[in-house]
Amino acid sequence: MDYLRRTWADIDLDCIVHNYRELKSRLTPGCRTMAVVKADAYGHGDGYVSRALQQEGADWFAVSNINEAISLRRQEVARPILILGCTPPEMAHTLAELGISQTVYSEEYAGELSRAAVEQKAVIDCHVKIDTGMSRIGFFAQHGHEARAAEEIARVCALPGLSCTGVFTHFACADECAGDSRDYTRMQFRSFLDTVELLEKRGITFALRHCCNSAAALAYPEMHLDMVRLGVVLYGLPPSPEYAGMADLRPAMSLYTTVTMVKTLEAGIAVSYGRRYVTEHDGQRLASIAIGYADGYRRNFTNKGRVIVRGQYAPITGAVCMDQLMVDVTGIDGARSGDVVTLIGSEGGKSITLDDFAALNGTINYEEACLIGRRVPRVYIQGGKEIAAVDYVIATL
Ligand SMILES: *Cc1c(COP(=O)(O)O)cnc(C)c1O
Repeated sequence: MDYLRRTWADIDLDCIVHNYRELKSRLTPGCRTMAVVKADAYGHGDGYVSRALQQEGADWFAVSNINEAISLRRQEVARPILILGCTPPEMAHTLAELGISQTVYSEEYAGELSRAAVEQKAVIDCHVKIDTGMSRIGFFAQHGHEARAAEEIARVCALPGLSCTGVFTHFACADECAGDSRDYTRMQFRSFLDTVELLEKRGITFALRHCCNSAAALAYPEMHLDMVRLGVVLYGLPPSPEYAGMADLRPAMSLYTTVTMVKTLEAGIAVSYGRRYVTEHDGQRLASIAIGYADGYRRNFTNKGRVIVRGQYAPITGAVCMDQLMVDVTGIDGARSGDVVTLIGSEGGKSITLDDFAALNGTINYEEACLIGRRVPRVYIQGGKEIAAVDYVIATL
């Protein structure tokens, strides 16, 4: 397999398939799956991941914008795709030509899209987004506004050039187990069902009603409806630390780099930008490794993070640079240039997860996964073997 063996991410497609099956086995029979592969499949690479899921039977795919949808079509994803965000109306014909479904979230946007579709002689499949508690995009149906939302949606469903076959909402705190969060999720679900029911009374029905993200799919089986939108769990990551262990998830991504040089230093030597670390004793051994914040390895790990070298944890010493950083390998026998270093993954019984990154950085595993940089080739593993590599810097898809 041809890729630069400087820093790379292994993406284990068998883990993706395992996670898909694990979730699928928990779904209400007949419930469809929409694999959420926005943001390059949460940094895992949209093509290989989506094709593996397609083969496994994922019914739908979801992305954030039309370029991501085009990328999927170019990479042999033939199943229906829903764009969760806005597509400029002038691209209506592209939606129709590529068979891509569009979220409609306001009467104003639906009107513009309808006009453009009619002008371009296209009919666009649409899913109506209802805002039941996120206060993000969607027809506002909170606080007793279900009836007004239903009225607006009914007008939208009658517009020419649009075919509204789906309806959905998104939960704000399905990943939180506290009682008031659970109440809020149930309130959102109620508001969604009420709005859909008001539409049914007017004779407007939808083939696909969906509201669950990963967390809700796990914690609220009664809310599965016609389809669930699975994102983070497919990658083997828990929707929040509270969900750790709730399902048998296998993290698909591991991150590796290499040792470029090892040096033995005396006490009192300043290390990296800003001299934020100073060697503590004679004979301290520091390894320079080939990853930095331009690879998505956060500068916030300065003097905080750790990596695994030869099956042992090695703490980061000094500031993380753009392309390199230093770790303390004192006591790690034989550590030398060329060694492979594990930054995410397991080695010799030690492990580091994206959740560990998130805890150190005060964020969530989702953000950490998305931040792994385009400079890091994605190497696909199947049956324990490398089957392909995507190097974004020099290669095409
Ligand atoms: C990103 C997203 C999802 C997937 O969420 P996960 O928590 O990763 O499962 C589902 N629905 C919408 C609308 C989203 O934007």
